[in-house]
Formats: sequence, C-alpha cells, structure tokens
Amino acid sequence: MSMKDIPRIAIVGAGPAGLTLARILQVDGIPSTVFESEPHVYFRPQGGTLDLHLESGQLALRRAGLAAELARIARYEDQGSRLYASDGRLLLADDDAADGERPEVDRTALRDVLLASLRPDTVRWGKSLREIEPRGDGTYDLVFDHGWEGPFDLVVGADGTWSSVRPLVSAYRPQYSGLTFIEFGIDDIDRRHPEISTLVGRGKIGVESAARSMIVQRNGNAHLRGYAIFRVPLSWAGQTFDFSNPAKARDRLKAEFEGWAQPFIDLIQASNDNIVPRYIHALPVGHHWANRIGVTLVGDAAHVMSPFGGEGVNMAMLDAMELAENLLEFDDWRKAIRRYEADMFARVAGPASDAAEAAATELSHLGPELTLMHMKSHLAARTEFGIRN
Ligand SMILES: Cc1cc2nc3c(=O)[nH]c(=O)nc-3n(C[C@H](O)[C@H](O)[C@H](O)COP(=O)(O)OP(=O)(O)OC[C@H]3O[C@@H](n4cnc5c(N)ncnc54)[C@H](O)[C@@H]3O)c2cc1C
Repeated sequence: MSMKDIPRIAIVGAGPAGLTLARILQVDGIPSTVFESEPHVYFRPQGGTLDLHLESGQLALRRAGLAAELARIARYEDQGSRLYASDGRLLLADDDAADGERPEVDRTALRDVLLASLRPDTVRWGKSLREIEPRGDGTYDLVFDHGWEGPFDLVVGADGTWSSVRPLVSAYRPQYSGLTFIEFGIDDIDRRHPEISTLVGRGKIGVESAARSMIVQRNGNAHLRGYAIFRVPLSWAGQTFDFSNPAKARDRLKAEFEGWAQPFIDLIQASNDNIVPRYIHALPVGHHWANRIGVTLVGDAAHVMSPFGGEGVNMAMLDAMELAENLLEFDDWRKAIRRYEADMFARVAGPASDAAEAAATELSHLGPELTLMHMKSHLAARTEFGIRN
C-alpha cells in the first residue's frame, strides 16, 4: 500500500482476531484503533484453552513477530486425549501426544501476549458499538453507548458472534445449533484432586452416552474446564438451572448425569461456583456477502461455527493475518479487502462444514461409537504418515 493511501482503520472487538490484526498492521507501520466493549482487560475470564494450529493460529502469531511469546505460553505437554464410556470404561487413550503440533494455549495468556505487543493507546476499552453511521463522503462514524468516534475509511468487525458491524454487509444472524453447553471449572486439581488429575491426564477427555456428553480440558495452572453437553431447546437451561445459586446448579447438573460412573459425577461435585450456560450458535456454512467499500468482518463475526472442529480461533487469527497482508500488498486498499473476502469465503467453507457436521452428529443415538471411529482413523492416519495431530 502506498503510504499516501493508508485508510483510517477502526477495528471493533479486542478478541484474538481484532488484536492479531492490529498487531500485524502495527508491525508493518499501519496504525489502527481497536474499540472494545469490555471496560478493562480483566473484566471477565476469557474462557478455556485453545489448540493453536501450525498452519493458522501459530502462523499468525509468528507473522506478528510473537514466536518467542508463543513458545512461552504454548503447552505442548497437554495435547493428550481420552475417550470414556459413561460406565467408566476407557475406550481409547492418546496419551503420548506431547510431540504434537497443536499445543494448547490459555485464552487469557493469548490475549495478554497480544495486548502487551501493542502500543498502549491502541485499544480503547469501554467502547460498546451501538451502530455505524455512514457519512455522505464514503467514510463511517462509530456510535457507542456513550459518544461517537470517526470518521474512519475502513471499519473491521472483529466483534464476535453477535457482531454489530455484520448488519452493514449481511442480513444473516447466527442460528442456535440445538446444543447447549453447561460450563464448569475445577481449580488446583493436581494438589486438591489428584484422582481427577489422573482421570483427565495431560489433555482432554470426552465421555459420551446416547443423550448426554461431557468434555473436560486441562488448562494452565492446574485448572480444568468442563462442558456438559445437551441437545435441548434454547430455553431449557434457563428453565432448568438456577445459575445465580451455584450449589443448586451443581446439584441439578449432577442429577442430569445420574447413572454415569462415579468419577464423572465427582468432576461436577468438585466444580467451583463458575457454572454458566453456553448456547452454541453458527452462521450458515458458506456465509458470505457482497463487498461494501469500507466495511469488512474477521473471525466469528464473519463465520461463527460450532466449536467441535477446534477451528474457530485458528480461522479468526488467519483472517486477521491475511487481511493485514492484503492491505500491505495492494496499492488500493479497497481491492485488498475484495481479495481478502473472496479468499476467506473459500477457505472457511470447509472447516465450517466439518464443524456443522460434528455438531449434527454430537449426541447421536450411537453413543460414543462415532467419536471412537473418528479418533481411531485420526490416530491411524497419524501413525501411517508419521505426523502428529
Ligand atoms: C464454549 C466454546 C468453546 C470453544 N472452544 C474452542 C476451541 O477449543 N478451539 C477454537 O479454535 N475455538 C473455540 N471456540 C470458538 C472461539 O472462541 C472463537 O472462534 C474465537 O474466540 C473467535 O475470535 P474473535 O476474535 O473472532 O471473536 P471473540 O473471541 O468473540 O472476540 C470478540 C470481541 O469483541 C468484543 N465485542 C463484542 N461486541 C462488541 C461491541 N458491540 N462493541 C465493541 N466490542 C465488542 C467482545 O467483548 C470480544 O472481546 C469456542 C467457543 C465456545 C462458545
């Protein structure tokens, strides 16, 4: 991009996509401002662990000049995976995965690394976007709950599932997938709950029956994050659980798993008071829009998908990298956006389709059989080609 044609860039949302974009642009001398609705950096826990893929999430961090930081926060030792039947039988264990190429990274650590890499004035906290007002000259003003900012030539929506930027380019809204996760956490497992630490091992476990399932992942600092998974109407969790009363919510959750082997009930019993519902939504596979000069989307704002493929954050960070690289490559930034969008629509269709299929088969009437088949073929392919993950 020629230096006289640098657009004034607003990025809405300081998640992995927005921060990666701001960082890569900044490294290459292009300024941007990130507007984030949360009032400060530690306003809410950022969620569980993510596996960063070599060809996407890790690539973007390296392109952002953060290879050393990645090496510091990556937990290669936590890539194991086990599948249990609900009666407690261990169906498959892939414990020897520490040399894999998809290390786990805690979301908070990832956000900290990206934030620390940016100039201090880059992120404006407590700026919740309400709407975008196009001005007559092709630029845009951002209207927040309190005040407004502008004008900007380019507004990038990196504001996640319920993006307030998306309506400018697309009429689609994410649809409920039919799956509700009840999230719970267990602290200090190695010291306080050694039997749970042994059950989970170094990585994650899945437990499945025909109507319920559970995924429990080891995070950093000896913390576990669990998801109890249900195929239920959207209103079910709110009507069934009193989330304002953690003791009651915990007991209700245990009751949902009656008949399962005791170690899995013990997992719920050991959970802390942070028990919250997550309703899994997705945009249609192949979601795209007609290019509109001055507005685009990255990450979940563009293509939120069910989390089963583990691609959400990886695609989000790759979007950011590719958008930045196109902006750097083309003299005309408008052309750069068109190229980014066309490539991104084509790239994301496959992972979105896989994630939709995984969501559709989760809690099938076959119990753990489909997952077992999938894990076995995955392991066989890895062994045959001598690759990890
Ligand atoms: C339960 C669950 C488990 C998951 N597990 C995985 C996994 O294992 N692996 C994986 O790859 N992905 C996983 N995902 C998906 C992953 O979390 C997302 O794909 C990823 O966070 C997308 O990053 P993003 O930057 O696009 O959006 P987000 O992470 O959602 O960030 C959006 C940011 O925008 C801000 N924002 C929102 N609205 C506004 C507004 N109006 N104004 C200003 N700021 C705003 C938000 O506060 C937030 O900081 C999971 C998702 C869920 C729900």
